[in-house]
Amino acid sequence: MNIFEKTHEMGHEQVNFFHDPTCGLKAIVAIHNTTLGPALGGARMWNYASEEEALIDVLRLSQGMTYKAAIADLNLGGGKAVIIGDAKTQKSEKFFRSFGRFIEGLGGRYITAEDMNTSVKDMEHVKKETDFVTGISRALGGSGDPSPVTALGVYVGIKAAAKEKLGLNSISGLKISIQGLGHVGQYLAEYLHKDGVELFVTDLEEERVKAIVKRFDAKAVGLDEIHALDVDVFAPCAMGAIINDKTIPELKCTIVAGAANNQLAVPDIHGAQLKKRNILFAPDYAINSGGLINVSNELEGYNRERAFNQAEGIYDILMAIFKRAKEKDIPTNIASDILAEERIRDIAKLKSFYLAKRKSFVIRKS
Ligand code: NAD
Repeated sequence: MNIFEKTHEMGHEQVNFFHDPTCGLKAIVAIHNTTLGPALGGARMWNYASEEEALIDVLRLSQGMTYKAAIADLNLGGGKAVIIGDAKTQKSEKFFRSFGRFIEGLGGRYITAEDMNTSVKDMEHVKKETDFVTGISRALGGSGDPSPVTALGVYVGIKAAAKEKLGLNSISGLKISIQGLGHVGQYLAEYLHKDGVELFVTDLEEERVKAIVKRFDAKAVGLDEIHALDVDVFAPCAMGAIINDKTIPELKCTIVAGAANNQLAVPDIHGAQLKKRNILFAPDYAINSGGLINVSNELEGYNRERAFNQAEGIYDILMAIFKRAKEKDIPTNIASDILAEERIRDIAKLKSFYLAKRKSFVIRKS
């Protein structure tokens, strides 16, 4: 891969490599765009097959964070870190303190957080070396588990989609299927049940299904059936790429709206195919931005009520996306990308002038 060509093509500002042989740390931080503020994104640990695979992953993920922060109206840019290694054997205090020093060295242009295979505890080691870290425990003044806030965002996002597609002010009586009853799926089921929704659920873990069936009078369905049920809304809350060549012809829902990241296997193709089938898609990175909203609140001194209130704003964000998609007759995922890009472009065009005192780590109020 030609790194310079690739990062230019994808619009990255900076890519940083760090190696500490004393503890075995190998990490890459990609800062995609900081027009709106410091780049925030989690640190993922994975046993990548090659350094190139790790680099491609961090470039793609950091670009995604730029769009997520921009559409969520946050004053943050997009960034991400990948740590190359085995999360089962390589983690230690020194490992994450070394990572923390690396982050500190970036001077606040990138703020890290937990992600796949990194935990709150790991971030607390990072915190010993830098303040440019979020996602620490509530006990230490952090924001804790983001899932309830993410679920609230998905819930209001489903309501926005029901308003747009079905003209409904209430989702009571609708049939909704949830794929995945993990952190987000469980809270989502609770919100929907309270609102009088008829639930259909599945998960790889039978115990999780049993618990939700019992608590919320949900119907358990098979793993391969969930996307093809005759329901109003299909809510993917497990893994990515669930909307693909195989599943699209089998969908019977009118709305796809869930928490999972990267739901469209090939966004350009599958977003358009959903539109063609007259199925409304709530763009994943917009509807699931509650997690980022939650963690971003940590930067201003965490206030849970404020985080929840902000996540309720996802309703209006989705309505704006749907409006643009309708006006331009384009798929909703494209409309979302355009709105995010417009916000960044607008802020980038603001008149600039010398500011005598500009802290490197300021979250500007919009
Ligand atoms: P999780 O790991 O807690 O839960 C995922 C659940 O999906 C698990 O119970 C797992 O058993 C189940 N699952 C996996 N494969 C499945 C399959 N093929 N069929 C049915 N169930 C399956 O994850 P989470 O935190 O609840 O997140 C869910 C999704 O939302 C992920 O894609 C995640 O990236 C995304 N997301 C989460 C947050 C958050 O705040 N947690 C924020 C933004 C996006």
